[in-house]
Amino acid sequence: MIVVMSPTATQTQISYAQDRMREFGLEPHLIVGAERTIVAGVGKEKPGLMVHLEILEGVEKVLPVVAPYKMASLESSPSPTVIKVRDFQAGGDRIGVMAGPCSVESREQLLDLARLVRKVGATALRGGAFKPRTSPYSFQGLKEKGLEILAEARQETGLAIVTEVMAPELVGLVAKYADILQIGARNMQNYPLLEAAGESGLPVLLKRGPSATIDEFLLAAEYVLKTGNSQVMLCERGIRTFEDHTRFTLPLASVPYLKQKTHLPVVVDPSHGTGKTSLVPSMTRAAVAAGADALMLEIHQNPEAAWSDGYQALNPAQFLQTMESTAVIAKAMGRDLG
Ligand code: PEP
Ligand code: MN
Repeated sequence: MIVVMSPTATQTQISYAQDRMREFGLEPHLIVGAERTIVAGVGKEKPGLMVHLEILEGVEKVLPVVAPYKMASLESSPSPTVIKVRDFQAGGDRIGVMAGPCSVESREQLLDLARLVRKVGATALRGGAFKPRTSPYSFQGLKEKGLEILAEARQETGLAIVTEVMAPELVGLVAKYADILQIGARNMQNYPLLEAAGESGLPVLLKRGPSATIDEFLLAAEYVLKTGNSQVMLCERGIRTFEDHTRFTLPLASVPYLKQKTHLPVVVDPSHGTGKTSLVPSMTRAAVAAGADALMLEIHQNPEAAWSDGYQALNPAQFLQTMESTAVIAKAMGRDLG
């Protein structure tokens, strides 16, 4: 913990800041400059010191030295976490692919897409049964019926199922059918939901909130990790910016940045990240080149007729081409795609 005193801080104020540090278990070291004094606290501090110091008179700012996300940080666990569910793997030598429609629409639609996902070599099937829609008048998902269809697709293809859970009270139900629980972007900071998902013991795919900073994203993951569930994947799915040529802005620098900060696998969702089918293949390849550990892609037999997010779905031919060209990039990165 570093405390920067203001240039006008008095000796009494500096001594008081030192005393508070000691109370919280840190040994203060003074750095006396020409303009101001800095107090560096060394040791293992008790929680809550930061807020106590920030409000003191004579203190200009307080800078934490260690990351606030303890379990998610690379310091806490220097080797990367690899998540395996059925044949799906995120991290290590494999780049796992989760593909499927935005929403489960019917048994025929989903089983047909599940077979395609299997055929092109992907290992996880996505599909929303409970849909978070901007408008309450839009299709809200087939709910439990959708979950039953997903389970049937798993039974037939062996694909791991990833589907969204929107509320803590639905975790029990969704966990009966899913292999991986998705927490959607709109729910990234729904703390009771993060805890309930963590307690299910299933791997959690946590999507970044469109206006969340990376620190907020990692602290959200920390809520899941704190339940004792270490299986968390972080999904970059685009953020909201002033730019409007795409639905969201997909900041791929967050992939290598996250990998410098955390041991958790990083997933990229170029479908929501761009909101435009024509941009998805390039950004899928770029995500792999940037070091993504897994991908999430929306696909549809006939995107024009999709009940949600058709404008960003790949049709079967585009999906196949995207997988083929992305596999080449994965190879160049020393990894296998699927
Ligand atoms: C989805 O995956 O269909 C979805 C709603 O994603 P997000 O939460 O990223 O908007
Ligand atoms: Mn969608």
